[in-house]
Amino acid sequence: MSGKRTLVAGGTVATDHGVFPADVLIEDERIVSVADWGALNGADEVIDATGLVVMPGAIDPHAHFEDPGHTEREDFTTGTMSAAAGGITTVIEHPLTYPPVTSAQLYREKRQMAKEKVVVDFGLWGALTPPSLPEIRDQWREGAIGFKAFMPFSEPAYPHVTDAEFLAGMREVEAIGGLVLVHAENDSLLQAGLARMEAEGRHDPMAHHESRPPFIEEEAVHRALFLAAEAGVRIQIVHVSSPVSAELVRRAKDEGQPASMEICPHHLLLDLDDLVRLGPYGRCAPALRDRALVERLWDYVLDGTADSLVSDHCAYTLEEKEPGWDDIFAAPLGCQVMQETVPLVLDEAFHRRGMQLDAFVRFSSTNAAKIVGLYPRKGSLLPGSDADVAIYDLDTEWEVDAKAQQFSKNPWSPFDGRRVRAKVVRTLVRGETVYADGEILAQPGSGLFLSSQDDRSRRAVKKPAAAG
Ligand SMILES: [Zn+2]
Repeated sequence: MSGKRTLVAGGTVATDHGVFPADVLIEDERIVSVADWGALNGADEVIDATGLVVMPGAIDPHAHFEDPGHTEREDFTTGTMSAAAGGITTVIEHPLTYPPVTSAQLYREKRQMAKEKVVVDFGLWGALTPPSLPEIRDQWREGAIGFKAFMPFSEPAYPHVTDAEFLAGMREVEAIGGLVLVHAENDSLLQAGLARMEAEGRHDPMAHHESRPPFIEEEAVHRALFLAAEAGVRIQIVHVSSPVSAELVRRAKDEGQPASMEICPHHLLLDLDDLVRLGPYGRCAPALRDRALVERLWDYVLDGTADSLVSDHCAYTLEEKEPGWDDIFAAPLGCQVMQETVPLVLDEAFHRRGMQLDAFVRFSSTNAAKIVGLYPRKGSLLPGSDADVAIYDLDTEWEVDAKAQQFSKNPWSPFDGRRVRAKVVRTLVRGETVYADGEILAQPGSGLFLSSQDDRSRRAVKKPAAAG
């Protein structure tokens, strides 16, 4: 360690526990002090944050980088560059790459490959699918903190779970103190919905919505929570899109169940009018919802029920999405949103929904750090925490133009043309500037793998070094 000191000076600091004017002093990779403006001296580099907001870097526990297997869509370098440009300093990537990561060996190979490519810190979820059931403990030893299950059909090589398989997997995960993540939609009802659309000759965008209405998600959320309670395992419902699902999670929490939920930007910012307008580019699972449900979903963001903002970034090529104009079911499921997720939801939450910045920090960073066991190393600006910092301009308006701005391989966005007053000015990962003023400044391989086996993940905050 060089002892390099960086001062982020003159900004408004937003943490999970408060918002106040302060300077932030970083030494090497860690925060060492947060103090009144002008109180800290002796920095080698000063970053002027006058008029800007300084937050813990966002944690995105739900991303798909399609690497290995479909790197024409995205890879760990372009995906984490998009993350950095979007104020995200930690990404946890899902096992649905090709081949799907259903064994400890595949997990290890993916981890070793990804480590050389990333520009932000990262983790990898393990798999909870029938072929991986004997491998859960070994995936955990390789670093998996949580394990992803699908209740509906997703991919032949990553089979969805029966209730019995799901419960058996939950018990395995509970035994190692891990987290279960679940895509909750009722497979039988979904297949019937798809068959009904096929029988009616429906191929328009709204047929996607009608094939998988909210009830299909809500029933599965209810069942997943019930099974998780039986197993006594911590469970995270991924990409909740319905306020009824959110209410089920709220009630489970009230009863003391260790349940949590994620929400994506597209489910908070887009509705069925957008599905019609965007066609294949608005096709995702769960589907976009009508405006009344979107409004009610916000209630659960504002009251703190919704734990974590996630991207569920799924990069597809234009060639893959375009056929969906003729047949919506021909377009793959997913939205490319990594770079816009945090600034767009911050803009909506802060400027239009009255959400305070400390609540937004919990929603975008601190809660996820706690759920995955990385707090207070991540998700915080406490002395001793990793200096993962995102600096925002909350005044200047800009317009989303995916082609001009994105670092993704296939620059399109369901948010193209949206005007936003929340701009990422600079992103630091463990004290190093990774992104500033439209440029990526870090080299591939500079990010760290965050492992379930890493003591440092759970270390207590160290006594702050003397400032000055
Ligand atoms: Zn996903």
